[in-house]
Amino acid sequence: MAVAEAAHVRPSLADRLARMIAQDGPLSQAEYMAICLHDPSDGYYATRPALGAEGDFITSPEVSQMFGELIGLWAIEVWRALGAPPRVVLAELGPGSGALASDLMRAARLDLEFLSAVELWLVEASPVLQARQAQRLSAHAPRFAARIDDLPQDAPLIVVGNEFLDCFGARAFVRREGRWHERRIGLDEDGRLAFGLAPPPSGFEAPEDAPEGAVFEVSPAQTAVAAMISQRLAAQGGASLLIDYGRAEPDFGDTFQALRAHQKVDPLAAPGCADLTIHVDFPGVAEAMRAAGADVSPIVTQGAWLESLGLQQRAEVLSRARPDLADTLRRQVERLTAPDQMGALFKVLVAYRGPSDPSPMHEP
Ligand code: SAH
Repeated sequence: MAVAEAAHVRPSLADRLARMIAQDGPLSQAEYMAICLHDPSDGYYATRPALGAEGDFITSPEVSQMFGELIGLWAIEVWRALGAPPRVVLAELGPGSGALASDLMRAARLDLEFLSAVELWLVEASPVLQARQAQRLSAHAPRFAARIDDLPQDAPLIVVGNEFLDCFGARAFVRREGRWHERRIGLDEDGRLAFGLAPPPSGFEAPEDAPEGAVFEVSPAQTAVAAMISQRLAAQGGASLLIDYGRAEPDFGDTFQALRAHQKVDPLAAPGCADLTIHVDFPGVAEAMRAAGADVSPIVTQGAWLESLGLQQRAEVLSRARPDLADTLRRQVERLTAPDQMGALFKVLVAYRGPSDPSPMHEP
């Protein structure tokens, strides 16, 4: 009986990773992250994504409905700038719980012409989240694509992605004793997952002036996604809005982190059970988008961007209608914009390509 039961026990993701490493050698941090997030049977997003106050991490659309509503107003403005085309593909990348899209579509009712032009697409890798999004957004009949590649090519495109790029891993390089090493994930003497150092791959472009101990992250996956979006904008016309935590200037720093129940945890402790992220390299993303054909805005902070879109005024209007919520709304504004909360660490990058340029960039 015990033997028969044991035959059905699937090895854990940690065990499978250990076996993989024993066979093929240590994994890069980017490979490790992709497996932990997207392994079809045990990956975090594939099986147990937990967003929101009760979950592992909280995002701006979960903090306040005003976030998605203002993005809705931005989308209307972009659509007008594009010449109000009769059909526009509005695609959200990694919609999570569907909160942003739902708030955006509510704001879209302010412009019925826009609303009737919109074809809502959701780019989502996780089947669990696709099901949640389909239910929450059923009134808007969303269509799903697993990849950006699968979005329609025959209409202008408005792309929105909040905390999407941070899911694409980076390789990490460490400066030690005057030399560069790649940090990889291998096994310790007891066969458990452990960080180790290996020689960097050939062709590694070492940054200059790195102090001892510096960590340098490189994310070809982030820049590839950015380039793909930009190519689409250049070919179809449209705009993209990418919001994420990350750096506005090239810099060193180890930003690989795991979050579980709002606590930072060891990223190697329980693969597949925590959300893994890295900071977005906005200068690299902006450069990739520029090279692929779109015009790119300056990188601005989330606080400045939301203020330029009228967050404060929106909160005041809502507070007048619902004085009982005034305190809550004030706290939400603070959370989204204060420099010591989400206002400064989060950055906004807009890319645009269209027939006219009535500056939908909102440079503060
Ligand atoms: N935008 C939401 C959720 C952020 S979490 C919010 O702000 O609340 C990241 C989202 O991106 C999840 O929906 C996750 O399943 C999705 N995702 C991560 N990597 C992806 C990939 N490679 N392709 C498509 N979706 C991905």
